Amino acid sequence: MGLSKPTAGAARSDDPYLPTHGNGGYRVAHYELDIDYKVAANRLTGRAVLTAVADAPLSRFSLDLEAFRVPRVLVDGEAAKFRHRAGKLHITPDRPVAGRFTVEVRYVGNPAPVASRWGDVGWDELTDGALVASQPVGAPSWFPCNDHPSDKATYRITVTTAAPYTVAATGVLSARRRSAGTRTWVYERAEPTPSYLVSVQIGRYEEVVLAEGPVPQVAVIPARLRRNAARDLGRHPAIMTALEGFFGPYPFADYQLVVTDDELDDPIEAQGMSIFGSNHLDGRRTHERLVVHELAHQWFGNSLTIADWRHIWLNEGFATYAEWLWSESSGGRAAAAHAREWHARVAAQPADLVLADPGPARMFDERIYKRGALVLHALRGRIGDEPFFALLREWTARHRHATVTTAQFVELAGRHAGTDLSAFFTAWLDRRALPGLGS
Ligand SMILES: [Zn+2]
Repeated sequence: MGLSKPTAGAARSDDPYLPTHGNGGYRVAHYELDIDYKVAANRLTGRAVLTAVADAPLSRFSLDLEAFRVPRVLVDGEAAKFRHRAGKLHITPDRPVAGRFTVEVRYVGNPAPVASRWGDVGWDELTDGALVASQPVGAPSWFPCNDHPSDKATYRITVTTAAPYTVAATGVLSARRRSAGTRTWVYERAEPTPSYLVSVQIGRYEEVVLAEGPVPQVAVIPARLRRNAARDLGRHPAIMTALEGFFGPYPFADYQLVVTDDELDDPIEAQGMSIFGSNHLDGRRTHERLVVHELAHQWFGNSLTIADWRHIWLNEGFATYAEWLWSESSGGRAAAAHAREWHARVAAQPADLVLADPGPARMFDERIYKRGALVLHALRGRIGDEPFFALLREWTARHRHATVTTAQFVELAGRHAGTDLSAFFTAWLDRRALPGLGS
C-alpha cells in the first residue's frame, strides 16, 4: 500500500440545497453526547465524543457547531488546534487522522435556535423547559456534528437536569440516576440516525402508556392535558397497527409522542419520537391526521432518510398519503375523496413547482406534501392495490435504516408495475404541469 498524502476535508457538503451544512472527508459512526442543562438559565454544558471514519488521511476537517464557547478539542485523545467561526469548527490535529478516529469537543453556552429561511430550528426554550426540533439545519444549535441527512450514526445521549423535569430523548432509555437535586437520563439509539432527527425534550411531563406492545407507545405530556390525550391519542395503537399493515414493520423499538406545555405551529418528527404542541390536543381529535403523519415519518424520513434535500417529497408525500390511508381504513373519507379534493386545490395554484427538485425555498411548500401524496394515489390507481402496497413494503424493507433517492423509488415502482412508468413519473415528478389523477 502506498502512502497517500493527507488532504483537508471540505467544510461543506455536496448537497445542492444546503451546501454549508455537512462536511467532507469523513463519516460519523457514533455520537456520545453528555449534556448538563440548567432550565432557568438556559445554560448548556456539553461534551461530545464522535467516533468517525476518514475516507483517506485528513490533515484537517470540520464539524458544524453554532455559537458556543469551546474550551478544548481532542483528536484521538490529544489536544488539537481549532478555529470556531460562522457555524463551523475547523480542527487541525497534531498528526493527520486516518481510518477510525475520535473527536472530543467540550462546549458551553446558552443554546439558541438557528435562524433559517424555514424559521427558527434546533434547541429552543419553552416557558418551563426546552425542546429540540431541528429539521433541516438545527442540530448544530446543541451539538457538534456532521450536519447532513446522509451521514447517519448511532447515539448515546446523557442529559442531566434539575429533578422536577422529565427528559425524553431520541433513543431507548437505558439508565436513570438520581443525585442531590438532579436526575440523569441516558438514552441509546442503535439505529443509524441523521443529526436533524436527534432530539431532547425537557419539561414537567408525565408518561401515559398508549400501548404496552407489540410496539411500546408512550405519550409524554403535561398532566393538565391527560383527559384530552385520552381522547385524541386513544386510537394510536390502532393507527400503529394500520400503518404497519400498509408499510411493513415499525422500524424502531418504541415510540414516544411528546406534547409540550406550550403551543407549537406544527408538529415535527424525530427518531422514534414526534413532538406536538398543547394546541394539538384539543380533546376533539381535531389533529389526528397529524398524529398519523408524524408516525408515518418513522418509515419515510427516519428509517428511509433522503440522500439529500431535493428528495423531500419522499418524506412529505408519503406521510401525507398515510393520512389519507388511515382516513379510509378507519371509516372516514376514502383516499380517493382526499385525492380529488387536493387535486383540485393544487390545480388552482400556479404550475411552477417541480416535485423532484423544488428548490430550497420550497422544500416545505404545501404542494410538496399534497402533490407528493397525489403521485402515490395516481400510482396506486395505475398499478392496482396489491402491487402498490407490495411496492411500499419492499421500499421500506429494502432501504431500512439507509438513505434513498427519487430515482431508486421510480426504479422499484417500475419493477412492481411490470410496465414502463417513465412517462407517468416524468409528468408527476419532473414537470411543472399537474397531471390528471387518472393519467
Ligand atoms: Zn411531515
